[in-house]
Amino acid sequence: MGLTEIRNRIARAEAGAGRAPGSVKLIAVSKVQPLERVEAVLEQGHRVFGENRVQEAAGKWPGLKARFDGIELHLIGPLQSNKLRQAVELFDAIHSVDRPKLARRLADMAQERGACPELFIQVNTGEEQQKAGVMPTETDDFVAQCRALDLPVRGLMCIPPVEEDPSLHFALLAKIAARNGLDGLSMGMSGDFETAIALGATHVRVGSAIFGARAQG
Ligand SMILES: *Cc1c(COP(=O)(O)O)cnc(C)c1O
Repeated sequence: MGLTEIRNRIARAEAGAGRAPGSVKLIAVSKVQPLERVEAVLEQGHRVFGENRVQEAAGKWPGLKARFDGIELHLIGPLQSNKLRQAVELFDAIHSVDRPKLARRLADMAQERGACPELFIQVNTGEEQQKAGVMPTETDDFVAQCRALDLPVRGLMCIPPVEEDPSLHFALLAKIAARNGLDGLSMGMSGDFETAIALGATHVRVGSAIFGARAQG
């Protein structure tokens, strides 16, 4: 498929939903991809990338940042407290804020550094046991806690259950965001980003449809 086709499909989905051209940010998810595929997408001019592991990103991106200007990096995977400092130094946005302890430590670090990545609160819209994220019913409280800590909450993020119609989850996320006065919605992956855009996504996270299949998840 590739970058150009995905950009075209995003533009068509924006138009189809009556949304402004360019209102959806494409995060190219480069986790586990061979370096030459990532370089090829950088050479095509794309600059916004997503990674799901701090360690992997720390091995790959400092070198690429030295060679390509204007890279914007999004952490879309789980964040352990012991990787927090490394994460705030490397990433421009974190999509996996999901617990009070993490919020408090992010606030401490923001104070100390005078800067904080843009934050998305991950919501477990499917209420799946094994999945990260705050429960839908706890999200309003958690948003309020993060705001009380002066954290820059940009919006909400979800990963719908694999077996379910994602549109129900995207609509739920949009509803929770709206009632909290948040307009950032990180939702939609290779298989469903057009649906997500129709339901208000501002950030889509697309990996395999740009880079090709991954060797592992
Ligand atoms: C891997 C991953 C993606 C991208 O998945 P594709 O199906 O390859 O587009 C999006 N979001 C998260 C959180 C991921 O871990």
